[in-house]
Amino acid sequence: MTDNESSEQNLRISFEFFPPRTDEGKKKLINIRNEYAKFSPEFYSMTYGAGGTTRTNTKDLVVEYNNAGFSTAPHLSFGGDNNDVIAGLIEEYKAANVDRIVALRGDMPSGLGSSKMVYANELVAFVRERFGDHFHIEVAAYPEIHPESKSYTTDINYLKGKFDAGADSALTQYFFNPDAYFYFMQRCQDAGIDKPIYPGIMPILNIKSLTRFSDACGAEIPRWLRKALEAYGDDQESMRAFAADAVTEFCELLLDNGAPGLHFYTMNQLQPVKTIIDNLGLNK
Ligand code: FAD
Repeated sequence: MTDNESSEQNLRISFEFFPPRTDEGKKKLINIRNEYAKFSPEFYSMTYGAGGTTRTNTKDLVVEYNNAGFSTAPHLSFGGDNNDVIAGLIEEYKAANVDRIVALRGDMPSGLGSSKMVYANELVAFVRERFGDHFHIEVAAYPEIHPESKSYTTDINYLKGKFDAGADSALTQYFFNPDAYFYFMQRCQDAGIDKPIYPGIMPILNIKSLTRFSDACGAEIPRWLRKALEAYGDDQESMRAFAADAVTEFCELLLDNGAPGLHFYTMNQLQPVKTIIDNLGLNK
C-alpha cells in the first residue's frame, strides 16, 4: 500500500440527503443509503426544511436510520420555534442515540420572514449548555462567503464564533473554485480556527437548476465550466460524464492540498456521486 492509498483511507466521507415527501421516495432513499454504506461514510446527514418545515419528517427519518445502525445527523435550526420545542426535539435525538447534529441558523420560507432568526452560534451554545458533550456539532462554512455577509472578515469571525461556542467541525457550502477554499482555509487559520472544515461537493446534474440554486446561495459556477456544460445542449448524458470528470479533478485538487475529507450533496441520488467516488478511487 502506498502512502497515498493509506492516507486516502483516513479521509472522512459523509453524504447528505433531504427527507423525501412520499413513501415511494423514502423506500428509494433506503436503497440509496444502503449502497452508500459500501463507502464506509462517517455519517449521513438529513436536511431540515427552511423554518423547520420538515421537522417531523427529518426527525422520523433520522431516528429510523440511527435505529437501523446508520449514523445520521439531523440538520437543525430554530426556525420559528421556541427553546422548549427545540430542546424537546434534541432530547428525542439523544434518546435515539443520535450523536451528531448539523447546527444552522437556517433560512425562513418566504412569507414567514418576520421571525427573529437565531444565529447558528447561539444554537451551538444552546446544545452545549443543555446537552454537554453528547453531540458532535457540525456547522456551516462558506468559502465564497455567505450571501448576507457584510464582509469576508465578519463572516470568518462569525464562523470562529461558532467554533468558540463549541462546534467540532464544519461542512462547507458547495463551490467549484478550489482557490476559494484554499484562500478561505488560510484566512480561517489566520483567525485561529484549528478545527476541520470539510468541503461540500455538489454533483452536476442539471445546469439550469444548478445555476438558479447557485445564484440564490452565493456559489459561483466558473464561466469556463458553465460554458463547457452548456455546450452539451440536450445531450445530458455527455454533459454529466464531463461534469463527473470535472468534479473529480476538483476533489483531487482539494484532497491533494489538505482537505480532510469530503461531504457529498447527494440530491438523494446514487449514480452521480458514486461515479465521482469511483473515479477518486475511494471505493474500497
Ligand atoms: P449563521 O452562521 O448564523 O450565519 C448567517 C449570517 O449571519 C451570515 O451572513 C453570518 O456572517 C451572519 N452571522 C452569523 N453569526 C452572527 C451573529 N452572531 N451576529 C450577526 N451576524 C451573524 N438550510 C436549511 O434551511 N436547511 C438545511 O438543512 C440546511 N443545511 C445546510 C447544510 C450546509 C452544509 C450548509 C453550508 C448550508 C445549509 N443550509 C440549510 C443553508 C443555511 O441555512 C443558510 O445558508 C443560512 O442562510 C445560514 O445558516 P448558517 O447556519 O450558516 O447561519
